[in-house]
Amino acid sequence: MKKIRTMIKFIFDVLFPPYCLGCKKEGSWRWLCDDCFSTIEILEYQYCPFCKIRLRTFERRCQLHSKKNLNGLYFATSYENLLVKNLIQKFKYPPFLKELSPSLASLIIAHFILLGKEKISKIFSNSVFIPVPLFKSREKWRGFNQAEKIAKILSEFFKVPLLENNLIKIKKTQPQVELSKEKREGNIKEAFIIKNENLIKGKKIFLIDDVFTTGSTMEECARILKKAGTKEVFGITVARE
Ligand SMILES: [Zn+2]
Ligand SMILES: [Zn+2]
Repeated sequence: MKKIRTMIKFIFDVLFPPYCLGCKKEGSWRWLCDDCFSTIEILEYQYCPFCKIRLRTFERRCQLHSKKNLNGLYFATSYENLLVKNLIQKFKYPPFLKELSPSLASLIIAHFILLGKEKISKIFSNSVFIPVPLFKSREKWRGFNQAEKIAKILSEFFKVPLLENNLIKIKKTQPQVELSKEKREGNIKEAFIIKNENLIKGKKIFLIDDVFTTGSTMEECARILKKAGTKEVFGITVARE
């Protein structure tokens, strides 16, 4: 069976050679070449998740938003970057280029390295990674959870345990991008449950997703997690809108 798969992959590669989504050059890499990767601006600082204020090194969110459940957000780059937008869209919508997950995870890793290597171990002490879950019909449609693909790579790289299938999405919601800012909160309310609260009590949780838009989804996840006894909840995404 494996042999057949390799053969099919070979034929597929000859007919449709992998190319870079940035410069369209053909090559052995999958969908993003090194040159195009290096053109993406990786952020060196952190910003408040709920506004565009740039934070000082000891801050995780601005004063105005200090009452939110989400303690802070780490995002690598801007979703306004057309290449980044294209990569993420080709990853999570047809043609579902799953092989983009290492490139997208690398952008996040680069961001943490820019924040300071010595800080990384401090940031991730006593932490757990949780991918933002999808409702089961959505995951079936896509064939995978894009957040989980990225979270797996980050978990291996940073040596932080990954907790899957504990935060569960129980409500089918409309895609947030289709809704106005006002409707997003109501759409996502009570959409998540936690299966085993003991696994997250007293921990620092990092919620992992591809894009941060208004933050309604992460804020709702953070609310549920904190109600169940999580100490702090941060978000990690590739990009922010
Ligand atoms: Zn390229
Ligand atoms: Zn703010």
